[in-house]
Amino acid sequence: MSDFEVIVAGGGVAGLTAGLHSARAGRATLVLGGNAPGGLLLSIEKIEGVPGFPEGVPGYDFCPMLQEHAEDAGAEVRMQELAALEPTDDGWRVTADDGELHAQAVILATGARLKHLDVPGEERLQGRGISHCASCDAPLLRDRIVGVVGGGDSALQEALTLAEAASEVIVLHRGEELDAQATYSQRAEEHPTITVRLQTVVEEILGEEKVQGVRARDLTADAAEDIELAGVFVYVGLQPNTEVLHDRLDLDEQRRIATDAANRTELPGLFAAGYVRRGSLGQAAISAGDGANAAKAAHRYLQTGDWAHEALAAVTGGPHA
Ligand SMILES: Cc1cc2nc3c(=O)[nH]c(=O)nc-3n(C[C@H](O)[C@H](O)[C@H](O)COP(=O)(O)OP(=O)(O)OC[C@H]3O[C@@H](n4cnc5c(N)ncnc54)[C@H](O)[C@@H]3O)c2cc1C
Repeated sequence: MSDFEVIVAGGGVAGLTAGLHSARAGRATLVLGGNAPGGLLLSIEKIEGVPGFPEGVPGYDFCPMLQEHAEDAGAEVRMQELAALEPTDDGWRVTADDGELHAQAVILATGARLKHLDVPGEERLQGRGISHCASCDAPLLRDRIVGVVGGGDSALQEALTLAEAASEVIVLHRGEELDAQATYSQRAEEHPTITVRLQTVVEEILGEEKVQGVRARDLTADAAEDIELAGVFVYVGLQPNTEVLHDRLDLDEQRRIATDAANRTELPGLFAAGYVRRGSLGQAAISAGDGANAAKAAHRYLQTGDWAHEALAAVTGGPHA
C-alpha cells in the first residue's frame, strides 16, 4: 500500500490547487485527477473571471497549466478515480483504480457534472445532437439553429460561444428572468443572433436518429410548441460528484459536503474543497482559493496532529505560513 501524507481526490481547479499548495508545504501529495485535468473548465472556450487573464483563457490552455504547476511543485498527479474511502487508525485507506493507497489526510475535490433534463428523448439522443460542450460542437453546427436550455452563467456563456458559429441560438429558460451575472445576460440579450425565451420548459427532445428539435411549453400561455433545432445544449445545473461518500458523510439537500472555515468535514483528516463543498459559489477563482485553504488546513492538521486545534479553524499564520 503506497503511503502519502495527503491525497487529493479530483483534478479540477480546486483539486489541482490543493495539490499545488500541499506540495509547496512539503507534504508528500498525490492528486487522483479523474479522467482529464481541469474538470468542468477543460471544455470551456473562454474561462472568464480568472485573475491574470483579462481577456479570458481557453480551458484547454488553462487546465494543463494547473496540472503542470502542481507537478512542478512536487505533487504526483494520476489520472485515476477515487473509488472508496475508509478510515484507519492513522488516516485513510483510499481505493483508486489501480489499488489501495494510504494517506494521513484526504481532500475531497470531486466537483460536479452537468445535470440532465430527464425528459423523453434525452437518453436516446445523447451525443446525437444533445451536448454539454459548446466549444467542442459549435463548429459542427455552423449556420444552423441551436437551442440552449438554462438561464444561468453556464447557459449564457455557452450560448455566446455557440453564437459565433450558429445562425441562431435560442435560449430556453423556465424562469421569469435570467439567473446569470449581468456580464453574460447583457451580452446575450444584446447579441443579434441570440433569442431568449423566458418561462419556457422543454418537455421532450425530438428526433429519431439525431436531434431535430424540442417540444417546449410556454408557461404564460400554457401552450406546447415544437421548435426545430439542429442541436440542444443543456445547462440546467450541476450534480455534485459525492456518490462515493454518501454513506460516510452527511450531505446537504444539494448532495454537497458541509465543512467549517478550515474546510474540515465532520470526519477527522477529511477535508473538502471546491464546488463539492456546501456553499461554494461555483467559480474558478473561488474553487482555487478553496483548494489552497484546504491544503493549508491539512498541513496544519498534520503538523499538530490535533483535529480540534483552534489554529485549524482560522487557518491563520500569514500568507506564507
Ligand atoms: C459551462 C460552464 C462554464 C463555466 N465557465 C466558468 C468561467 O468562465 N469562469 C469561472 O470562474 N467558472 C466557470 N464555471 C464554473 C467552474 O467550472 C467551476 O466553478 C469549477 O470547475 C469548480 O471546480 P472544482 O475543481 O470544484 O470541480 P470540477 O471542475 O467539477 O472538477 C472536479 C474533478 O474531479 C473529478 N472527479 C470526479 N469524481 C472523482 C473521483 N471519484 N475521483 C477522482 N476524481 C474525480 C472530475 O472528473 C473533475 O475532473 C463554468 C462552469 C460550467 C459548467
